[in-house]
Amino acid sequence: MLSEFDLIARIRARAGTRADVVLGIGDDAALLRVPSGHELAVTSDTLNAGVHFFDDVPPFDLGWKALAVNLSDLAAMGARPAWCTLALSLPAADPAWLDAFVDGFATLAREHEVALVGGDTTRGPLSINVTAHGLVEAGTALRRDGARRGDAVWITGAPGEAAAGLALLRAEREGRPAEATDADGRAHLLVRLQRPLPRIAAGRALRGLASACLDVSDGLLADLGHIAAASGVGAEIDAGALPVPAALAALAPAVRLRHQFTGGDDYELCFTAPADADAAVHAALAPTGVAATRIGRVVAGGGVAVRDPHGHYAASPHAGFDHFRP
Ligand code: ADP
Ligand code: MG
Repeated sequence: MLSEFDLIARIRARAGTRADVVLGIGDDAALLRVPSGHELAVTSDTLNAGVHFFDDVPPFDLGWKALAVNLSDLAAMGARPAWCTLALSLPAADPAWLDAFVDGFATLAREHEVALVGGDTTRGPLSINVTAHGLVEAGTALRRDGARRGDAVWITGAPGEAAAGLALLRAEREGRPAEATDADGRAHLLVRLQRPLPRIAAGRALRGLASACLDVSDGLLADLGHIAAASGVGAEIDAGALPVPAALAALAPAVRLRHQFTGGDDYELCFTAPADADAAVHAALAPTGVAATRIGRVVAGGGVAVRDPHGHYAASPHAGFDHFRP
């Protein structure tokens, strides 16, 4: 039986470090050197068994995703990830599970040069909390409150694939027929759900260009609604402008649009930029390998409206995920 300290030692053996970590795992607190001229971006996200993931999800994927959702928040701010902490509540001290979990976490951490500098380990229902710290040049962070009437609305990549992956898993667990997809499509959708890629390079590239930005975790309409509310404006999306990835092309349009508008978990960046900045947006993103699509506009008023391909306004579509909605 592993002790709490054995568990921490296993985690520590897999945690990377960086030159600006003065003191990492092992003391009462970590000591980190914040470079002058920068602001510290701090974000925290929790994943709970049964709420955010099925209990049989591969532990590697869970470790990956626990960090990815936090790095995505840093991406949405235009920050460069630097450090993180990991608070784990575990029902049992299972070394094989823990090693796979930390391997998933550490693989993504290495990719973005993030050091795990501390945390907490307790016994209880499986729950994972990560706090991530990023650095952004003072005054240049991307915020939600800068969208202006007349700006264009953009999305990186294509939304809806993670939601389609979740719908597939749900159908399979309940023995219902799955939505139209082949084996390759299924594998792709599950990767999108379980191994999201934080759009760090895109967020960095959009500094000085995007007027507002966030990462889509709860659904495009709901999250764009947060930009609208914070900025004191409204937004319109053209349903026909949404990029349709191959893995969603075979779905009935209504099902696809539900995934694309209200599905969470894609961790793409939704941002606004001046209407005459299309070439600049494409040029800034080109070196990142992440494409973006112009899908709508910022208007006066409030809320988010959808126009169907014929130019008619669709009935106000349902918003995204809310933990406390009855
Ligand atoms: P304390 O009792 O002083 O809070 P702990 O015994 O909880 O210290 O933790 C010992 C050290 O191990 C601390 O540096 C803490 O940050 C680190 N630590 C504990 N759990 C984790 C974890 N899950 N991931 C990374 N570091 C951890
Ligand atoms: Mg502690």
